[in-house]
Amino acid sequence: MKNILLTEADYRDKYPPLGLMKISTFHKLNGDNVEYSREKQKKEKNYYSKIYIATRFSFHWKKTKELIKYYENNYDAQILVGGIHASINPELYEKEFQLKVHVGSLKGDIENILQLIEKDPILNNILEDVRSYGIDALPPDYSLFEGQDLPFSKVLEENYLLRATKGCNRNCSFCDVRKIHNSYNSKLPISPIVNYIKKNYGEKRNILFFDDNTLLSKKLDEIVIELSSLGFNQGAKFGKKRRYCDFNQGLDLRLLDENKINLLNTISINPVRFAFDDISLKELFKDRIEKVVNSGIKNIAVYVLYNYNDTPEDFYQRLKISIDINKKHNCRIFSFPMKYVPNEQIDRKYIGGNWTKRMIRGVQCILNSTHGIVPVNPDFFNVAFGENENAFLNILHLPENYIIYRKENKDNIGKWSEEYRQFNTEEKVLIHQAISAGKRKIDVNNILDPKLLRFLEHYINE
Ligand code: SF4
Repeated sequence: MKNILLTEADYRDKYPPLGLMKISTFHKLNGDNVEYSREKQKKEKNYYSKIYIATRFSFHWKKTKELIKYYENNYDAQILVGGIHASINPELYEKEFQLKVHVGSLKGDIENILQLIEKDPILNNILEDVRSYGIDALPPDYSLFEGQDLPFSKVLEENYLLRATKGCNRNCSFCDVRKIHNSYNSKLPISPIVNYIKKNYGEKRNILFFDDNTLLSKKLDEIVIELSSLGFNQGAKFGKKRRYCDFNQGLDLRLLDENKINLLNTISINPVRFAFDDISLKELFKDRIEKVVNSGIKNIAVYVLYNYNDTPEDFYQRLKISIDINKKHNCRIFSFPMKYVPNEQIDRKYIGGNWTKRMIRGVQCILNSTHGIVPVNPDFFNVAFGENENAFLNILHLPENYIIYRKENKDNIGKWSEEYRQFNTEEKVLIHQAISAGKRKIDVNNILDPKLLRFLEHYINE
């Protein structure tokens, strides 16, 4: 029996590390002793045979780096680094550490466990998948985190976590999925995984999919039939509560047609998640969303990318379109702004070509004032984001404290607006340049006009 440690940096992510959970199943089937801990372990140097370190996003780099260094320096174990960020940037890790990163899903040496899987009445249904995909085809081990209070404990308690499909061949320029999964799998086993979790860790109310692009699947009909037969048909209940399917990474709106909308309507999908990343898809977005709403689905979540090749104006438009549809159809489309940060970046400082640091902070301050939510109510939306693109741009250029504490700064905002309105285009450009680097970085070097200098005093105490 070997001692195995599964770890990752202690970031606050509400989703559990599915890859580590599968690795745990693999080692437990092998008879190993498996631990998951986010705290740096202080055991004998040779206590662990293997230490798996999972990575997620670019902005966790500092913490992850520290963690890998710690285990490299203090243990003799074989250290395996994998997960999203390492798969996208293997060179970064390999340059920094003496190790080879595992890119994509982990297959592992599964020969020893095939017999056990064959004999298990549930797992024998996935035997061929395990032969082909190895560890990645195994069910997740929910007991891995027993006794630990983690940011994802609630999600774990309430959900079956799995994939119905894997990969995506759409090659959206901002997306790194292709670097992680280089082919598309249109149907992974669902029932055996759900049944295994149910038998070993108890029944779950909801089902949460981490698919990259489910609608690309030619087997969508099989997927929804299977979900219905597992008790996730439309209107399904778990005791007295409704139970839901959630395709958490969003569905590809471009691939949605009447047939697929009808299929989705046979299962208890809620919310239905889409993305609205590019304003050139405006008409398609409106058309498909209206079809979805008219089919009876009223609860929709939309991821809205910004800070990429978009402009602040088109970001505003993309939010506003959903507000208008809400009003017209009496539905609830929630927008979730997602700030683009290239995954090669090791911090969150990236600023897209059409944005400035001031504007990015402005969006964050607006969201700060609305507790992170884009209001669904048109009146609240207009107050938070402005009634039109110009009003939105003006809000983004307000001092940060004026944006966050709008009520308290009502008079200041009135004064700011009155003064700002009187500047001509060139003067506004000078002001934007002076404040573009954000709070406490006001650059008055190019400003000679006393009127402009006086206006910039608004930013002294922001
Ligand atoms: S459709 Fe989604 S998963 Fe596929 S490449 Fe585009 S963003 Fe990535």
